[in-house]
Amino acid sequence: MNKPLDTGLPSWEPGAPSYLALQDGHQRQFSYLRLSITDVCNFSCNYCLPDGYQCETKQTPISLKEIKQVVTVFAQKGINKVRITGGEPSVRKDLVEIIHTIKNIPGIQTVAMTTNGYKLGEYIGPWLDAGLDALNVSIDSLDPRVFETITGHNRLKEIMAGLDKALELGIKTLKVNAVLLKSYNFNEFERFLNWIKDTPISLRFIELMETSDNREYFHANHVSGEEIQQRLEKSGWIQKVRKKNAGPANEYLHPDYQGSIGLIMPYSKDFCTTCNRLRISSLGKLHLCLFGEGGLDLRPYLMPGLESLLSDAVDKGLQTKPETHYLQSNNTGTTRHLAMLGG
Ligand code: SAM
Ligand code: SF4
Repeated sequence: MNKPLDTGLPSWEPGAPSYLALQDGHQRQFSYLRLSITDVCNFSCNYCLPDGYQCETKQTPISLKEIKQVVTVFAQKGINKVRITGGEPSVRKDLVEIIHTIKNIPGIQTVAMTTNGYKLGEYIGPWLDAGLDALNVSIDSLDPRVFETITGHNRLKEIMAGLDKALELGIKTLKVNAVLLKSYNFNEFERFLNWIKDTPISLRFIELMETSDNREYFHANHVSGEEIQQRLEKSGWIQKVRKKNAGPANEYLHPDYQGSIGLIMPYSKDFCTTCNRLRISSLGKLHLCLFGEGGLDLRPYLMPGLESLLSDAVDKGLQTKPETHYLQSNNTGTTRHLAMLGG
């Protein structure tokens, strides 16, 4: 049974409500929230939105006010890190205000974001000034033509310049996400490694996941996490000892490289046992798993005065969080593509 939360918070708010800690029926505790602020995306990555963004709802995305309300209650329940994601979060005009608002919610220590990077060069300064601590930029190829084939956009040069600017401005944590794809970029494996020899970036290799929209593509392009792992070990990369609550990536280091590697293997045994994250979609639904069903609508509770009802609804929902996803048996739940939920 989960206990009232000892938030460990300083006395910033005497009499702050003592909600229950976020713990599911499998004794997993949650300190990390992934918040999608839009499902719109301007790219058309061929494994995610091959036909580009298609508007499927008349509902508006969660507002700045609703974001403040929901994150405040989740912070009082033990969330200390929020990742802003999408769709493409930088299509939202109020992104700087969103970062600033989340960063100033008591209890939130880290504000991170995942982006395709198309506005990185232009906006990294304002994002950092607003309080952004960590950034993941998705770059699936270092070859401009392959990058364009995968994403539909000839923007690699600008995105790489944006990365340099982020480093120059002293960003605390900068990671690059690359989904390895058999027919497109797996032959760039060595090139990716060479790139981080002298570049202090943490590169995340993400194993392609099947969604209900990409089944054929998945079977043609999936590279197994074990295969990537073997290639890393052959090249002298050493896996770091995993810390408790370390998140989903297996971390690798190499004495000759400034950068590091994180390998995300959602198909590996026990991937879900260390799950420390919850997701809220841009329509305000709480998703207990990236590959679960429908999601619990929190929007009716996102009004001043309904905080404890929101907290109760989340507690009840959490008890239904499944122990694991069923991706191994090709069950992708209701997830058509990851732009719906932000990965
Ligand atoms: N648009 C932003 C971006 O691309 O970084 C944020 C949203 S995107 C859904 C978040 C991450 O999910 C990206 O790194 C993307 O490469 C990854 N992703 C999308 N679909 C995927 C899939 N089917 N399997 C594995 N990773 C996927
Ligand atoms: Fe857009 Fe990100 Fe999906 Fe690419 S991976 S289509 S950038 S949401």
